[in-house]
Order: sequence, then C-alpha cells, then structure tokens
Amino acid sequence: MRPPILFPLFAETTALPGVGARVADLIEKVAGRRVVDLVFLPPSGLIDRRTIRRIADLADGETATVVVHIDEHLPPSSSRAPRRIKASDDSGTMIIGFFHARAETLQKKFPPGEKRVVSGRIDRYHGTPQMMHPDRDGPESSLDSIAIVEPVYPLTAGLLPRVLVKAAAAAVARVPDLPEWQDASWLKARGWPAFREATARLHSPATPADIEPPAPARARLAFDELLANQLALCLVRRSLRRLKGRPTRGDGRLAGPLEAALPFTLTGSQRQVLSEIAGDMAAEHRMLRLLQGDVGSGKTVVALMAMLAAVEAGGQAALLAPTEILARQHLQTVGPMAAKVGIDTVILTGREKGKARTRVLERLADGRAAIVVGTHALLEEDVAFRDLRLAVIDEQHRFGVHQRLQLTSKGQGVDVLVMTATPIPRTLQLTAYGDMEVSRIVGKPPGRQPVTTVALPTDRIDQVIEGLRRQISGGGQAYWVCPLVEDSEGVADLTPATTRYESLCKLLGEGVGLVHGRMKGAEKDAVMTDFAEGRLSVLVATTVIEVGVDVPNATVMVIEHAERFGLAQLHQLRGRVGRGSGRSSCVLVYAAPLGAVAKQRLNTLRETDDGFVIAEQDLKLRGAGELLGTRQSGLPAFRLADPDAHQDLMEAATDQARLILHRDPDLEGDIGKAARILLYLFERDAAIRYLRSG
Ligand code: ADP
Ligand code: MG
Repeated sequence: MRPPILFPLFAETTALPGVGARVADLIEKVAGRRVVDLVFLPPSGLIDRRTIRRIADLADGETATVVVHIDEHLPPSSSRAPRRIKASDDSGTMIIGFFHARAETLQKKFPPGEKRVVSGRIDRYHGTPQMMHPDRDGPESSLDSIAIVEPVYPLTAGLLPRVLVKAAAAAVARVPDLPEWQDASWLKARGWPAFREATARLHSPATPADIEPPAPARARLAFDELLANQLALCLVRRSLRRLKGRPTRGDGRLAGPLEAALPFTLTGSQRQVLSEIAGDMAAEHRMLRLLQGDVGSGKTVVALMAMLAAVEAGGQAALLAPTEILARQHLQTVGPMAAKVGIDTVILTGREKGKARTRVLERLADGRAAIVVGTHALLEEDVAFRDLRLAVIDEQHRFGVHQRLQLTSKGQGVDVLVMTATPIPRTLQLTAYGDMEVSRIVGKPPGRQPVTTVALPTDRIDQVIEGLRRQISGGGQAYWVCPLVEDSEGVADLTPATTRYESLCKLLGEGVGLVHGRMKGAEKDAVMTDFAEGRLSVLVATTVIEVGVDVPNATVMVIEHAERFGLAQLHQLRGRVGRGSGRSSCVLVYAAPLGAVAKQRLNTLRETDDGFVIAEQDLKLRGAGELLGTRQSGLPAFRLADPDAHQDLMEAATDQARLILHRDPDLEGDIGKAARILLYLFERDAAIRYLRSG
C-alpha cells in the first residue's frame, strides 16, 4: 500500500487550482495525469523577466518587463486588426496589442489613466515598440511577482504556458517533507538539497545553469530516480537468487563430441563465456545470465553447448525466439548440430497445430525431445516438460520479465540464459539488466572479412543495381532492404518493398524474391529457404530479416532509405553479411539531402564495425530518452535522470542501493523505511513484495 504521506502527490492534477478536466487532458500529454507527474517534469528552459526597462530602452526581440501609464485604447482599423492600447512612461510611448480580444475585457484589464505592469516580448513596429499579448500583466503592486525568472516546460497545442507554470507551481507546493533516504555524508559531500527543497528549486530556476543536468537540485532528483530503480532491481535480483536452483552439471559426453565435430574451433571468448555459464549452472542458485555478443559473434553455438550440458545432466532445454523465422533459423542451425551427437530437436510455434502439435507436446512431456526451439507458443499453458533445466531466451528486448517467468515456471529451478545481439551501453546495462549477471563474447570468429560500407544518394541507384548484377552473375547473393513506411494511421505500408521488388525483377530477371512481415509464415519460410539454399540471388525484404538470419553466401547488403533507420538497426542489418569468407559490402542508399544526425549515423557506420562503439554513439545521437523511451527496448523510462549526463550517478546509485540492502536487508530501519517511500514515489514499488517473500 502506498504510504499516506504520498497521497497528495498521487492525486489527479484536477485537484490543483486552475486545472479542470480539459486542462488535465492537455497536461497529461506533456507530463501525466497525476500531481507527481508535474513535480517530475523538469523545465526545458526559462524566461528571465527581471529586465525592467524604460520604454526608450526597449530592444527589439527581448523579453522585458515595463511599468506603463495606460493612455488610451485605439479604435481598431478593421475587424481583423489587433486591438491596440497606447501606453507610455516618461521616456516614450509603446503599443500593447491583442488579437481577438473583447473591448470591454481590455478596458477592465487596462483602465486608461492607471499604471500597469506588462511583461512579454518586444517587437518594433514602424519604429514604435510594441508588445503583442503580454505573458503577464497586473497592477503596479504586482511588479515583484511578475519580474522573476519563470520556468518553461515542453508544451502541447492548446495548453497556455502560463497555465502549465501555475499548475506546476501548485503541484510543487504539495510536495511534503519526506524522511531522507540518501546517505547523509554523501548528500553533504555533494551539496544537494533535501527532496522537497530539490523539487522547489527544480521548478524555480534562476539561471540557465539551474536547469542543466548537473545542477544540484536536478542531480539530487535524478539520483533519487536512479536509486529507486537500482533498489528495485536489487530486490528482484536478490529474490531470484534466493529461489532455489538446482545444480546442473554436464559431464561433457555430448558437448565434447560436438565440439570435436564443429568445422571450427571455439574462440577464447566463447570458451570463457561457456565456462562462466557452466559454473553458474553447476551452482546451487539459479542462473540468470545475459549473454551479449555482437551479430555474428557466435552466440548460437555457445547456447547449444549450454543446452547440451542440461541434457547431459538428464534434463531438457528450451530455446525461445521472438519470431517464427528466427525459431526456424535456430532449428536449422541447432538441429543438425545436435543430431550429430544423437539428440533430437523439436520445434513449437504458432504453426504447429492439431496432430503435429500434440506430437511435440507428448515428446516434451515424456522427455523424448531433449531440446525444443520455439516462439511464444512455448509459453502456452498446456506445454509441459518432463524436466526443463535450461531456458535460453533469444533477443531479450522483445520479451518481458513476465514471459521469462512463464517459461521458467515449467520446470524446477530452471536456469535462464538470455541472449542479445543488441549491444547495450554499460551505463544502460546497469539499469536495464541490473538483475542479471553478464557474459560478453568479444570480437568475432577469425577469418571474417570486414564489410566495406559505402553511402550513396538515391540518384545513383542505377550504379548500385549494376554492381549487384555483376555480383550475382559471379554467383553472389544479396539482400535489398526497404523501410516500412507508416501512413498517417500508423499502418505499415509495403509499397517501397513491393515496387523495388517489381523493378528488380524487371532489371535482373529471375532469382529475385520478396519477403515481408505481412506474408503467411509458410510463404515467408519458403522464400527464405529458397534464398538460403541459393535458388534466389536477391532477397528484397523489409526489416523482418533484421535479426538472426544466417546465409553465409550472401555478401551484399543494400539498405534503401538508410536515413530512416536507427544506427543500431543498420548495424544489425549489416551483420547479415560478412558471415562467410567472401568479401562483403554494405551499400547505404539515402535520399539527399541528409540531416546532420542522419549524416553522422551513416559516418559512424562507415567508420566502425564494433557494435559497442555503435551503441554508445547511438545513445549520444538519439539521446538516452529516446533509447529508453522506446517500448520495444524494454528499458525503463526515466524522467529526471539522463543516462548520458548522469553516468557517474548511475554507478553511485547502484553502490548505494546495495549498501542500503546490505545494512538493512528488510528495509526496516530509518533509511530503509525512507527507501520504501522512495520506491513508491518513483513507482518501483512492485519490488516491495519481494521483501515479504524473502
Ligand atoms: P550470432 O548468433 O552471435 O549472431 P552465430 O552464432 O549465428 O552468431 O554465428 C555466426 C556464424 O559464425 C555461424 O555461421 C557460426 O557457425 C560461425 N561461428 C561461430 N563460432 C565460430 C568460431 N569459433 N569460428 C568460426 N566460425 C564460427
Ligand atoms: Mg544467431
């Protein structure tokens, strides 16, 4: 239950003065529905109204505050023209103007003969300074409250800045004094204010520096957010560690012969990772390990060796893939390898139905099938194992923690290995995968030729097609990737891929195939298989081929409208080639002119092939907000912390979270109780239930 002290913060914004249903809907677009959402909305800028000017000194374009005498309301020159009020001080005359205002309202607000304060932007019009729609106005006595520095928030159409500023101020006024959860000496060393004061200062910046990430108030709140996140992760992780695992120790009778039968030798990094995994599986606790490795780094064989260890120990293993195509692909690589050592692999996806499905379920239930590869279909309730010991999950970011649990609940003390080819910058890893141990495959198997990457504007596409013709006449194969274009309703349009397919068919004749996400599973597989087995030389595709597909003979990757893809995605796509021993190339075709960010993206890609460097760069270019914001990424969204600017805080928050739990495992002491409030405040309270189960 949420502590009562936080109730005012979790009330709807309509509880604030001046916020009705309509305004609340608008505020929801920029912040959220609750008071706390406004409190945690950092200003994006500020307006300094402290410049008090005489009319003669007003400069064009500046924001100024002026005390004026209202002379007269001028008759409008036409019904569309603005209403104009002539005002003066002892130095000169100015105009205050309003569009669409009623004469009576203006007469009341600006009574002729009286003094008024107005604050807003100055424009000169025929030499006379004028202020259209002052942001602020009031009697002379309100000068002190008008001539201040005001925060500026991100806006949405229909929401007046003034209304939002007022609502945010009212929200901040509701922040209660909360017990301190941060370490006293740390707080002192940093010179950070207490929580309540920090929120007040966040929303009343005096200088531009005050709204930058390093400003003490902002940094304090960012740290709070990170600390809440890390505490929650530590709690989850601890409870998972407390879950009883089962020692699973392979004897090598399958993995040994498999390794001997491989057409290559494992790299040092693969061996290292395998021993980490074996050690974890053999231990009493449950394994929860993230296996990171760039595309083509050789994760699959590592996963297979781990699965064989589970089989050697008398159990079963499951490999969960995010898509049908990937599941089939895994079956194609893992199946024959496992067969070499006498192990049968089965597949279970949405496509296995009726009798075929029943047969697979039987074989899993009685243990005849030792290894299963599948999609979400594996998670269904009637799927049971005789003894599931290891779950390997490919491409974690498409699965949630919940699904992970669903799979592991199908066995006892199931070890979990999550594989991802998306290199996650270290700084984000802590926050996103803080609940897992991490193994990394560094480098690539030997013998790989680097992929030559070039960028060309669309008007040179004939040249690209000529090059392609040469490649395929020499027996090469190529991918041609087109973006999915979404129409205004967010519906994916396949036109770019289908028209490109048609034109390539005309130019290159037979041997061109098309695959996209709208096709039926069986159709897709047929095309993919034709390509994999060399019956097609060019595969036009949407990004369905992004992950996992492995055709070593393919040496050319053309990406059309490369400017529309993210850096990480481009890197993944490029990883589809350069898998064999042939020289490979990647052609990025872009629509000119390129924006600055797109240009830098393509440059980065040309300069490096290191997925981690690319991920770091991606983070810089897109901003962590966007990386974190994407729902797909499965990374938590932060409102105050900026994973780039607050990198050092991220690590400190991890340490402090550990320390808090080390000193006070049940969060019962003073700091511990305060930390509970922190978890509720940042809505990481789902983790609190792990305290009781411990
Ligand atoms: P990932 O899943 O990490 O993208 P894969 O496991 O699909 O990479 O491996 C890519 C290719 O490299 C596969 O064709 C695989 O057989 C091959 N491979 C894996 N390990 C090695 C190695 N140690 N030496 C040579 N080739 C390897
Ligand atoms: Mg793979």
